[in-house]
Amino acid sequence: MTAVEADLSEIPFVDLGAEYQALRAEIEPLMAGVMARGEFILGPQVERFEASFAQYCGVAHAIGVDSGFSALELGLRALGIGPGDEVVTVANTFIATVGAIESTGARPVLVDADPVTHLIDTDAVEAAITPRTRAILPVHLYGHLADTTALRAIAERHGLAIVEDACQAHGALDGDRRAGSLGTLAAFSFYPSKNLGAYGDGGIVVTDDSALAERLRMLRNLGSRVKYQHEIKGYNHRLDGLQGAVLNVKLPHLDARNAARREAAAQYLELLAPLPVSTPQPRPGTTSVYHLFVIETDDRDGLAEQLSAARIAHGIHYPVPIHLQPAYAELGHGPGSFPVAERLAERILSLPMFPELTTDQVRRVVDVVRTHLTGAT
Ligand SMILES: *Cc1c(COP(=O)(O)O)cnc(C)c1O
Repeated sequence: MTAVEADLSEIPFVDLGAEYQALRAEIEPLMAGVMARGEFILGPQVERFEASFAQYCGVAHAIGVDSGFSALELGLRALGIGPGDEVVTVANTFIATVGAIESTGARPVLVDADPVTHLIDTDAVEAAITPRTRAILPVHLYGHLADTTALRAIAERHGLAIVEDACQAHGALDGDRRAGSLGTLAAFSFYPSKNLGAYGDGGIVVTDDSALAERLRMLRNLGSRVKYQHEIKGYNHRLDGLQGAVLNVKLPHLDARNAARREAAAQYLELLAPLPVSTPQPRPGTTSVYHLFVIETDDRDGLAEQLSAARIAHGIHYPVPIHLQPAYAELGHGPGSFPVAERLAERILSLPMFPELTTDQVRRVVDVVRTHLTGAT
């Protein structure tokens, strides 16, 4: 993802304009207030949002930062993770997961994805643990929750932290526990197209641990609690006040918008059921927030062409697994290292998914999929 571009498709992939139109009467005065009072960096809107988001996730603390990448990086740094350490994560993820680990100086240790859930293969995690391992970093890809119950058992046996990459999972539930409350700490992104998106970059770290929260507040703000007093070495990764204002307006709508995504997903699942495609399902007992709706099929590229011809936007999340990215050649893997992630990269396709997606639009998308796969109309 680089920029949220104007989407001229008949059925777009996401529709940020629709959300803005629905909320602008609330958002604009709040943003104007931030500008009038000059509350541009951190400030009252950010503090209010941090309190609301912590409560929403069911944790004690939330620390607003400038991106999901920063949330992951600072979360790891707050745990004291750095050069010489290893962090176990999954080969089937967005590049930022691994970039954040690397930027602390720690080594990302990859494991394969599970072929059914597409999420971290928890059975492969234990074998990847070495004396240098400090944390396990599961990714709640597509808004489906990774099996943090199994991972917590492994982490306890080995004395490791769990850092949730919840950048696609705002509001997802494991039983009645929210994403963000399932590990030691969690990172969320507010990139505009995420389930909870800002009007620019943004992110947040959530945790129940007061000492970690205190470190995170210093790490994001040049290592200081009091201006010009620097207790530790820090960075500049603060969330800005305008984003705080936008997020304060949007958070109360998150549950309804996630429910609308689930409804669209249910429609997709029903209409796709007779067709030769498979779809990764959320684990039993969890409630997904369907950041993406992903299908798996043999002739993925052919289907993508058909969708383009019908002007239906679509995506591949992600077309190249981490270990085959040129940037991570140095990890020393190659084709065949993580066969599940490699096979998924060739077979997956993301269909349009956003809360405003209508029944008719879902039907039109599935019509194209059906025509392609069965030749029938
Ligand atoms: C979006 C995303 C990130 C990074 O978030 P940014 O705010 O774009 O830095 C990290 N991990 C996953 C899985 C994501 O989807």
